[in-house]
Amino acid sequence: MKKLEEYVRSIPDFPEPGIIFRDVTSILQDADGLQLAIDSIQEKIKDVDVDVIAGTESRGFIFGVPVAYNLHKPFVPIRKKGKLPCETISQDYDLEYGSATIEMHKDSIKPGQKVVLIDDLIATGGTIEAAAKMVERLGGEVVKIVFLMELAGLKGRERLKDYDVESVICYE
Ligand code: 5GP
Repeated sequence: MKKLEEYVRSIPDFPEPGIIFRDVTSILQDADGLQLAIDSIQEKIKDVDVDVIAGTESRGFIFGVPVAYNLHKPFVPIRKKGKLPCETISQDYDLEYGSATIEMHKDSIKPGQKVVLIDDLIATGGTIEAAAKMVERLGGEVVKIVFLMELAGLKGRERLKDYDVESVICYE
């Protein structure tokens, strides 16, 4: 059986010159690759006491929902600003150029709930740090953060040093 790394397609100069984009569509479009990705993420939380799985738009949904389904836990979508219909809280974070805002429904996490955050990739860690802060503002406890891929050179882990972070594939 192929290793998960072999399913990842690396695209040079996307979305900008000098960036190597790690494409997950090549994992998803292969039945073995998809299963291996979900199983590998799930393996990272097999001993974790968790109430809720949360994921960030949009690739965090792709990998987070199957894990939540398998564990029979709820899934909470963390969305870009303006997408959620009910009462929300929001969190701003810095991008390389400018800033962005993500939101959650206020009733999506109950105080004291243990939350695992899932996303496809950590670069600078800014997105997931904002997500973790928002979960905490709702009274949740971030018990683990799992990424399918990590771009270690961008040192996102340092930003998340207060959290238990694991990734399935690590690119130096
Ligand atoms: P960060 O906030 O850690 O700097 O950026 C991570 C976010 O950007 C993730 O939500 C991820 O989906 C997206 N991202 C950045 N670079 C890549 C990449 O090379 N491949 C994929 N699949 N997503 C990326």
